[in-house]
Amino acid sequence: TRSTRPQRLLRAVQKKAIKGDPQSVISTIDYFCRHSEWAMNVGDEKGVILDSVVCEVSPSTALELGTYCGYSTVRIARLLPPGTKLITLEFNPDYAAVARQIIEYSGLQDKICLVEGASGDLIPKMQELFGIKTFDFVFLDHWKDRYLPDIKLLEECQLLRKGSILLADNVICPGTPDYLEYVRNSPRYESKYFKSHLEYTKVEDGLEKSVFLG
Ligand code: SAM
Ligand code: MG
Repeated sequence: TRSTRPQRLLRAVQKKAIKGDPQSVISTIDYFCRHSEWAMNVGDEKGVILDSVVCEVSPSTALELGTYCGYSTVRIARLLPPGTKLITLEFNPDYAAVARQIIEYSGLQDKICLVEGASGDLIPKMQELFGIKTFDFVFLDHWKDRYLPDIKLLEECQLLRKGSILLADNVICPGTPDYLEYVRNSPRYESKYFKSHLEYTKVEDGLEKSVFLG
């Protein structure tokens, strides 16, 4: 049977990136996606905004919803302070298998915990599985109709504290209108849009950064 896009992306990394060098893994994936096949990674342009938010927050606890091939996972984990682990959730076992190899290749496996399963099932288990009380930083990049129910679930499970930062990708393209409506109008959040472009294209897209006010 034919290989899948994630498998081809992994091959490119194994062939061209320097083992143990996260920046080289990131650049190799960006090059592959610009010159061979588009893929749904946050990408290099929005990636710079993601980097700056991660550095500013310098989180002790971090959660990513939607791993795919592990591009943003590596991107975030390489900037985390020593001792911080990024928990990343992915419900597609084929994507998770590729992501594990890309994470391993980058050498950041000790900073990342990839959990296979659906966000709706796993969020309520964060305390029991990892002893997490609250998350300092959450990156939302899974299916777009899950952003709103999942932040409501994070609220209900008391996994957000005053000052927790949510960063949501693709709020314009494909778009998350119900989520934007909520974080922009709820008195529990202070929210700001960072204009950019859909990964590897010139189509408008952006990230929404929302501070949980408690
Ligand atoms: N964050 C990745 C990056 O920038 O490199 C891209 C993630 S991709 C846009 C979205 C991923 O979320 C897909 O791999 C999909 O299988 C996964 N996903 C979607 N809904 C999910 C859910 N409810 N729980 C866990 N994973 C989910
Ligand atoms: Mg995205």
